[in-house]
Amino acid sequence: MSVNWTEAQIAEVVAKVLSEVGGAPAGGKDWDGSQYCGRKYIGVFETMEEAIDAAAAGYAAIRSMSVAQREKLITSIREYCRAEAPVMAELGVAETKMGRVEHKTAKHLLVADKTPGTEDIVAEAKTGDCGLTLTERAPFGVVGAITPSTNPSETVICNSMGMIAAGNGVVFNPHPGAIATSNYAVDLVNRAVYAAGGPKILVASVIKPTLATADIMYKHPAIKLLVCTGGPGVVRAVLSSGKKAIGAGAGNPPVIVDDTADIEKAAKDIIDGCTFDNNLPCIAEKEVFVFDNVADRLIDGMLKNGCVLLTREQADALAKVVITEKVDPKTGKTKRMVNRECVGHDCNVILEKIGMHVSPDVRCAIAEVPFEHTFIQTELMMPILGIVRVRDIDEAIDLAVKAEHGNRHSAHMHSKNIDNLSRFAKAVETTIFVKNAPSYAGIGFGGEGHTTFTIAGPTGEGITSAKSFTRLRRCVMADHFRII
Ligand code: NAD
Repeated sequence: MSVNWTEAQIAEVVAKVLSEVGGAPAGGKDWDGSQYCGRKYIGVFETMEEAIDAAAAGYAAIRSMSVAQREKLITSIREYCRAEAPVMAELGVAETKMGRVEHKTAKHLLVADKTPGTEDIVAEAKTGDCGLTLTERAPFGVVGAITPSTNPSETVICNSMGMIAAGNGVVFNPHPGAIATSNYAVDLVNRAVYAAGGPKILVASVIKPTLATADIMYKHPAIKLLVCTGGPGVVRAVLSSGKKAIGAGAGNPPVIVDDTADIEKAAKDIIDGCTFDNNLPCIAEKEVFVFDNVADRLIDGMLKNGCVLLTREQADALAKVVITEKVDPKTGKTKRMVNRECVGHDCNVILEKIGMHVSPDVRCAIAEVPFEHTFIQTELMMPILGIVRVRDIDEAIDLAVKAEHGNRHSAHMHSKNIDNLSRFAKAVETTIFVKNAPSYAGIGFGGEGHTTFTIAGPTGEGITSAKSFTRLRRCVMADHFRII
């Protein structure tokens, strides 16, 4: 038996079903800042003020929850993140045109598995002749978070898990170039929290985030902590807000390879790290300093791992393409910016821009260049890797430290010489230093330790986790409660 429904009847049924699963259909495109495939995002508002009010109400609701109940919310977010990792990975690549679906899926699974929960919040007790003093980690209240386009949903979910485990509500001002993906993650967190017995909205966002909505967030009295993950401009803006802020800024991670390293392994590890999600992660290898006496073998190893070697002419032509110049109308000065048409794109797509046709299987373009070259000096965030030959460890450390530009973000080294390893680690002063592995070992992917997508070098919290989003409170009991 067939039923000949009219379009209006079908629309009515679809609307009813969708409203039951959490929102009315928004129509239009498959996805935008307010909806995904017709299902309206939960916790995403027209105005920043509404978003802050909703997150504040969510925070008020979880204040009375036990730690065990809060941990259930985190467990639920882990499950939803695992189940919907492929959807967010697809959406992230479709919306931002950056990165690789399989790597973005892996990043979401990493967030689900290795972001700490409430176990990260540990109280301290001090006892003595005068009694007991307890120091506890309390929530700030509502956290305002800025998130990047490079790991959009990963950062929203990872931040949410840590901030909720600490007892906070969260409002996001996501990157305008990744609104649908970021807001999908906001919606996912709310669905997961509600399913586990939490409030309907605990994290919130806006349909159209802008610098103006960010500014409202900075100044709103309900926002007690700002957490910013992004480039230098936005980190500077947040740190000048006058509020307590955590800044996770740009990097330009160098990697040194000395002549004691396992060169074949170093070549593979560097290319695995550098090409992960098309070099979008801020920790990913961005330039190499290799001892002259092993440089040919390293380059050979890289070629065996799916790279193409550019001539100096090709490298110079490409350097002109990956940077764009724009005159600032306010100052009249020319600003050099990394070309967004290249950031996070596949290698073959980038090389097409200088008329080079290579297979889509090519993972990375490598080139021997001088130290001053754009490939060494600029955080390009694309599968292009500049290589500089060095005489010895002194020159390697000197140049690598300079190329890191004082970001104190990440640096990596392949060596079996513990003196060299220690010297570079001390000199470069980065938050993350990975020895003899791909860079992503530094965020718990094939390395020990928890993960984060907010690596706070400038403000010193390091590999952020729930405890980073707490404030310390002391309670003193005079003369009593010692048991010895
Ligand atoms: P971006 O700096 O372009 O933007 C980040 C966010 O800030 C966006 O929401 C953007 O709209 C907003 N923004 C930019 N300038 C602003 C201002 N003056 N005031 C208010 N908001 C502003 O970041 P992106 O290109 O998406 O991300 C890449 C950058 O972020 C790289 O430099 C990368 O190293 C860095 N990053 C750092 C970490 C870390 O953990 N340290 C993680 C991911 C990315």
